[in-house]
Amino acid sequence: MSLIVQKFGGSSVADADRVRNVARIVTETYKKGNDVVVVVSAQGDTTDDLIAKYKEIDPNASERERDMLLAAGEQISISLLAMAIQSMGCPAVSLLGWQAGFRTSSSHTSARIKKVDPTRIRNEIAKKNIVVVAGFQGIDKHDDVTTLGRGGSDTSAVAIAASMHADLCQIFTDVEGVYTADPRKVPTALKLSEISYDEMLELATLGAQVLNNRSVELAKKYGIELEVLSSLTNKPGTIVKEHTKMEKLLISGVAKDEDIVRISVTNIPDEPGLAFKLFSILSAKNINVDIILQSIGRDKTKDISFTVNKDNGQAAVDLLTEKFVNRHDGVSISMNDNVAKVSIVGSGMESHAGVATDMFEALYDANINIHMISTSEIKISVLIRKEYADKAVRILHDKFFPEV
Ligand code: ADP
Ligand code: ASP
Ligand code: MG
Repeated sequence: MSLIVQKFGGSSVADADRVRNVARIVTETYKKGNDVVVVVSAQGDTTDDLIAKYKEIDPNASERERDMLLAAGEQISISLLAMAIQSMGCPAVSLLGWQAGFRTSSSHTSARIKKVDPTRIRNEIAKKNIVVVAGFQGIDKHDDVTTLGRGGSDTSAVAIAASMHADLCQIFTDVEGVYTADPRKVPTALKLSEISYDEMLELATLGAQVLNNRSVELAKKYGIELEVLSSLTNKPGTIVKEHTKMEKLLISGVAKDEDIVRISVTNIPDEPGLAFKLFSILSAKNINVDIILQSIGRDKTKDISFTVNKDNGQAAVDLLTEKFVNRHDGVSISMNDNVAKVSIVGSGMESHAGVATDMFEALYDANINIHMISTSEIKISVLIRKEYADKAVRILHDKFFPEV
């Protein structure tokens, strides 16, 4: 007998038929003699709809109340799924995040899981229940409801698998696994049979939302193998694990992120300490900076450009205007949201020269101008105009995965 954690995303539980479909998968697993913990997201576009609702009341609504609202989406799907499982003759109980033992930090709308106390889940399993847990939510030290950030249910599932030492953690979604590019945008994308944590972490961080990046981080930390597979077809998916047996692919995937903006601070006096000052203003407010470019100094001034998530764009400009730009003569700031980051990821790059050249050549052939570049051992990212993002993904995919 094994303990299996199965997570189902929003599209997998979008309507009554899909909920019944999930109930069938879960009950089949249970009837084979396994203990089953199921983690679910809100149905379909529910979370987006709830966000639209609070914006109708107040776009700047307090984060505590936003969490209270957003957590409602998962409450609907867990209860419906538990009912569907019961109607198929199996015992089931649904639990909200706090009932399932999710303790989190207090950073509302992007809380971090501090620990999962699985006592209640274990008690329910001992009673032979299939346990259906609300993903994406928990409770902080003040007993306030928190949410983990968009796509957070993947992390909930991995956290349960880690805290309960589950034998298997399956992430069911609306595609058949992890592909070499988003299969909805690139029809020739290939399904990977396996991928390493490090490559998956890069892909997820760089925009492949098939897995939330924090879930991959957690899976790596606790050595939890993940299987990403479709809830709609009965086919083997992609295994995410430490060491892959496959011969190293040069590139394992192409990803894009359109949820970023570029901020440029120009005419900064060219003297030591100002870059530190600028970025410490942002880090003090937990604003993460991504690609950074500093121009070579001219006329005793320099320019610094960097990218941040678009949700933080205006806050970053306001902060820097108040605490940096207004305090240094001649310095100015601007924000550009017509940008996207397109990246190639692959551990094979480490031992192959020329990958960057191939990437830049493909973009040049397509007449796509590169604004910024950033590299690590296993990825290369470029910043380009947003309207070219899909085309860039396609041409890079064609370049590195030519059809045979
Ligand atoms: P869920 O609701 O199940 O959590 P998501 O919408 O969060 O599903 O993630 C699945 C989606 O991720 C797919 O529908 C696909 O369009 C997108 N995606 C982006 N990049 C990739 C990739 N490299 N491989 C597979 N899917 C990807
Ligand atoms: N329902 C949440 C969201 O839409 C969490 C998730 O889907 O993982 O972001
Ligand atoms: Mg998701």
